[in-house]
Amino acid sequence: ECSLKNDSHGSTNKSRKPCHLMFEQNPLRIIRSLGSFMEDEDGQQLLDCVSGVCQVGHCHPMVLEAAQRASALAHISTDSNAHVISSVDIIVKDNYHYIPRLLATLPKNLNVGLVLHSGSEANDLALQLSKEFTGNHDVIVFESSFHGCLGTVSAISPKTYNNDFNPRDWVTIIPVPDLFRGQFRSSDPEALEKYFEQTKEIIQTKLNENRKICSLQFACLITEPIFTFHSLTIPEKSYMQRVVSYIRSLGALIIMDEVQTGLGRLGQNLWGFQNYEIVPDILVAGKPLGNGYPLAVLATSTEISRSLKDCHKYSRSQENGEHLFQFVPSPMQSAIGCAVLDVVCQENLVANADEVGLFIRNSVCGLMTSHTTIGDVRGSGLLVGIELVQDMKTLKPAPKLAESVLYRLRQEGITVAVEGINNNVLILIPPLNFSKQEAGRFLQVFDQIVTELEKQMICQVSWGNELQRIGLKLDESDQSFLKWRSKDEQSGNLSGDSGQGSSISSYMRGMSCISF
Ligand code: PMP
Repeated sequence: ECSLKNDSHGSTNKSRKPCHLMFEQNPLRIIRSLGSFMEDEDGQQLLDCVSGVCQVGHCHPMVLEAAQRASALAHISTDSNAHVISSVDIIVKDNYHYIPRLLATLPKNLNVGLVLHSGSEANDLALQLSKEFTGNHDVIVFESSFHGCLGTVSAISPKTYNNDFNPRDWVTIIPVPDLFRGQFRSSDPEALEKYFEQTKEIIQTKLNENRKICSLQFACLITEPIFTFHSLTIPEKSYMQRVVSYIRSLGALIIMDEVQTGLGRLGQNLWGFQNYEIVPDILVAGKPLGNGYPLAVLATSTEISRSLKDCHKYSRSQENGEHLFQFVPSPMQSAIGCAVLDVVCQENLVANADEVGLFIRNSVCGLMTSHTTIGDVRGSGLLVGIELVQDMKTLKPAPKLAESVLYRLRQEGITVAVEGINNNVLILIPPLNFSKQEAGRFLQVFDQIVTELEKQMICQVSWGNELQRIGLKLDESDQSFLKWRSKDEQSGNLSGDSGQGSSISSYMRGMSCISF
């Protein structure tokens, strides 16, 4: 609501807009939701392909039931109980002890966990721990990555930097091995080697620079297992393993940020890092854990967790240290977290993510033969990216087409997101119990919309050719309407009736056309 302040003309005032709206021209106003569907205040049913947080579907009965039960329990404030352990004890008694349940899904070295509210908070703590544990300060991140909105984590999120300018000398940005659109592409057999050499060079340069100043070295690499914010680029397993072991050899820790990718999203395993056979030193998980309820977790080894006492020097606990927040851990978080885990296991949702995700990717691949604007489809499990291009020859990104598809899908009752470094990648992150039938609905409507929009493009191009032949020119500066100018107008003679050009121009202006 805050972003819907209208100006005196009733239109959204862009200059005062405090946050980004997905459908700026007609914002979503959801009043209820169930499974993979949402309903807006006009009664339109929307197939939710972009939920992200509702891992087990909207309002799953097992999650609702757990939340209801927990709301009847005593609420424990960590502060009034003076020590975090006392609240955990009570939660154990009520059979809602979440952390052991979650740790049981992780490798043995990740045997200590802490409940938090958000991914940003958990990443912030991960940074603190890595700095205290290694005694180092610098952080390595991949380009375009995003790790949250708190001061510390937005400082290590190149996605939030303006024009890729890195304002922090303690943050080192390494390249994403983007074989589709990056500097080195899949046509080059040496591409991955070149990306790796570039990575080493950037890091070595930074090490040398720092040595001159004050002997700072790296505390950690923080990364997602795949690059969701870099147009959903899926790295090769061996490449990630190589980068991780190189950075480890410098004494830095590996923080795996699975806020987006965790709990079965990528298919194959419950955790994305398992698909890459990389065991992180610190794991951060967030939004899907609570199916929409604020729940995040940091998991690490006993050894690293002990650095907590150095993060908070005032800590009362001599051995482990404390990281106290007023509202965590709560019985509600434990109950909901356990219920979500139960649903993921009982409903075999990791396998479903594999099966339905592959079905979507294969089907979109099939559509590529009959469309000229689907440049690529990629993903893992139920995280799918469809990259739209102006044509297959130049692969020029088509952000306006992506936006048109986004709005047309919404009209047809389907929500997706548009993301990526060129804003031309449709992202699908539906609930993990998304069915093949629901996927089929998306595919059918997507095919129909792309066909329709491509026809308009062809119409636009053939009109352009025809009008050019008779001496008129397309004005490409007008992005929302096709605008044609006669030779007279082009030469600056705008007085009076500009003849044929003017009548075609007014005819075309009346037509609402997209341009790419
Ligand atoms: N890391 C990643 C990869 C994310 O996608 C996000 C949120 N989109 C965050 C961290 C921040 O999580 P939160 O919004 O829960 O603070």
